[in-house]
Amino acid sequence: TGPAAHTFTIAAVPADGVGTEVVTAGRAVLDALAAASGGAFAFDWTEFPWGCGYYERTGRMMDDDGLDALKGFDAIYFGAVGWPSVPDHISLWGLRLRICQNFDQWANVRPVHFHPGITSPLRKADDTPLDWVVVRENSEGEYAGLGGRNLSGRGPGNEVALQTALFTEKGCERIARFAFELARGRERKKVSSVTKSNAQQYGMVLWDETLSRVARDYPDVETESVLVDAMSAKFVLRPEDLSVVVASNLHADILSDLGSALAGSLGLAASANLNPERRFPSMFEPVHGSAPDIAGRGLANPIGAIGSAALMLDHFGLSAEAGRVRAAIEATTAAGVLTPDVGGKAKTGDVVASIIDQLSS
Ligand code: ATP
Ligand code: MG
Repeated sequence: TGPAAHTFTIAAVPADGVGTEVVTAGRAVLDALAAASGGAFAFDWTEFPWGCGYYERTGRMMDDDGLDALKGFDAIYFGAVGWPSVPDHISLWGLRLRICQNFDQWANVRPVHFHPGITSPLRKADDTPLDWVVVRENSEGEYAGLGGRNLSGRGPGNEVALQTALFTEKGCERIARFAFELARGRERKKVSSVTKSNAQQYGMVLWDETLSRVARDYPDVETESVLVDAMSAKFVLRPEDLSVVVASNLHADILSDLGSALAGSLGLAASANLNPERRFPSMFEPVHGSAPDIAGRGLANPIGAIGSAALMLDHFGLSAEAGRVRAAIEATTAAGVLTPDVGGKAKTGDVVASIIDQLSS
């Protein structure tokens, strides 16, 4: 075959623990897809060795000029960051959040998807189809990193710490618009906005007001505003009511973990950290962490990472190929090729082999 009609450049950052196992899995699936494309497209991978091991050797989670190195790629494919030997706030801020913030990846999209063959605590007797997306504000809110410690100026036993959440009208508006645009493209045209504006009267009220204003531009999309505690209950009791759920950084972080657990395992959940303006590369990663308890043993469920690779294909405009990957994942779970977290005995590599096999069938 001749040179591919289009080559997408991808920076792979496997980082820590099962991150390395699931990134290997996702790369194998994408490479199989490219090989079968008859030269229509190809992926050019560059791997970066950053993470907690790198930190132990060099004192840095990533190179000082690492952001410059990443800037020119079409996308970043990320594994997971964190290891017990390095404090979490150092590893997270030193690598993942550094990339998210500097590349202005302000929209985090986390589909809650239910797979055939995987038992969910939610699956209803009538098999109501369940499928929703959590949209997480990814640049400000409760994770803005604002605040301080030792603010009382008094001695031991009297420490005061302040952790401030930042909400800007521009930040609220762009994530609201993003959610409505996403809802417009879905079968169920509905946005559920989540806050705690009864108890937090500044930022969350600004969020509510901004969302209502944006909603007026989308009369074709149904809108509701739900408190986060009520939404947690709704995830469990009335999930068929959900389509696009938009929430602040903290609330959406928690709700999307709940969603993936309801779908059967944290290992199933995919996510995209998007810079929607495409001024910087977007980053695709499974929702789960480095899972030190199972790392290095071939037990990791690769579906969250492979689903994230499908989101990356969507981002590249390869939607038909993304659909093929999702269909191959479904055929694999339906056939019962499952890792232990979802009740099976298969290894990571067995799931990958089955997905690749299904791609060509
Ligand atoms: P983080 O702080 O990065 O979110 P965490 O410590 O909260 O990480 P994980 O590392 O995601 O959480 O692990 C939580 C649990 O989920 C662990 O028991 C882990 O084994 C399990 N888990 C996470 N990812 C997977 C996966 N891909 N396959 C199977 N089990 C997983
Ligand atoms: Mg976690």
